[in-house]
Amino acid sequence: MLLRTLLPAVVFILLFVAIVSADELDSILEPISVTERVYYFKGSLDGRTYENQAFNNNLAFVLTNDGVVLIDSGPSRKVAERVEQAIGTVTDMPVRWVINSGSQDHRWLGNHYFAERGAEIIALARTAETQSRFAEQHLARLENVLRDRLAGTRAMPAPEPVEADRHAVELGDVRFELIFAGDAHFPGDVLVHIPDEGTVFAGDVVYLDRMLGLHPWSDIRGWLDSFAVLEALEPEHVIPGHGAAADLDKARAETGDYLQAILDGVIEGLDDWEQLNETVDRLADMPRFRHLVHYEEWHRMNVNRAYLDLESNP
Ligand SMILES: [Zn+2]
Repeated sequence: MLLRTLLPAVVFILLFVAIVSADELDSILEPISVTERVYYFKGSLDGRTYENQAFNNNLAFVLTNDGVVLIDSGPSRKVAERVEQAIGTVTDMPVRWVINSGSQDHRWLGNHYFAERGAEIIALARTAETQSRFAEQHLARLENVLRDRLAGTRAMPAPEPVEADRHAVELGDVRFELIFAGDAHFPGDVLVHIPDEGTVFAGDVVYLDRMLGLHPWSDIRGWLDSFAVLEALEPEHVIPGHGAAADLDKARAETGDYLQAILDGVIEGLDDWEQLNETVDRLADMPRFRHLVHYEEWHRMNVNRAYLDLESNP
């Protein structure tokens, strides 16, 4: 009798547990096609968690006649394995090349896994340098979040990075260009241009749907220089580092215009001898960007950091 009354509750609880434990990566790992040959995985817009396995950024992959080009390799060995499996739902070809667009943990900590599987890692020297410089710190922070899920991950910057600011390379039958035009979210962030597909993988140079973040090591002017180069390429498709792929207008509205508004506002404050808190208060509300996820947590801090950056590097 007791069992019969409790049964619906038990079924409900079991169902709830099943839904909650459904792997958050499953939905992230559904490849989204941008063109016939270009796909991307849209990472979570949230911060890094055990559940999203720090897959809170976008990765892309491109089908060539001779293998797959992966752009950025994910935050861990385990995620890299899952990325490889997910690419396998689209093509039987192996990942033969990995391009790194940046140096933040989730852009490159899967390199070692793909290198072991025979892929060549391609990055500019300035990107690889930043990877080496931040590797220990990024791994330590990830360790706190991912715990057992970080097991087996090894930091491996590109072993033979390219000493140039622009690097054009043909992989299979597809042309790629790595373009450095200014330090942005991190020093050495690059755009990956795929001219024949009218597509740019913008990495951390473009954030859509969510608020971007300026860090103490970010460079707002370099970031805007990089954004200007993206505009000059006039891509049909922009795959941002975070958020859904879109066109250039949306990239301008949610990243380029935002950075410019902060830059102009902070310079105005510095010219008027405003104190840090006065500038932050004056720019505290920018209704145009209020719809971006994490606006509340990040916007004031971004103004704050831009002020400090521009004050010490006038
Ligand atoms: Zn990022």
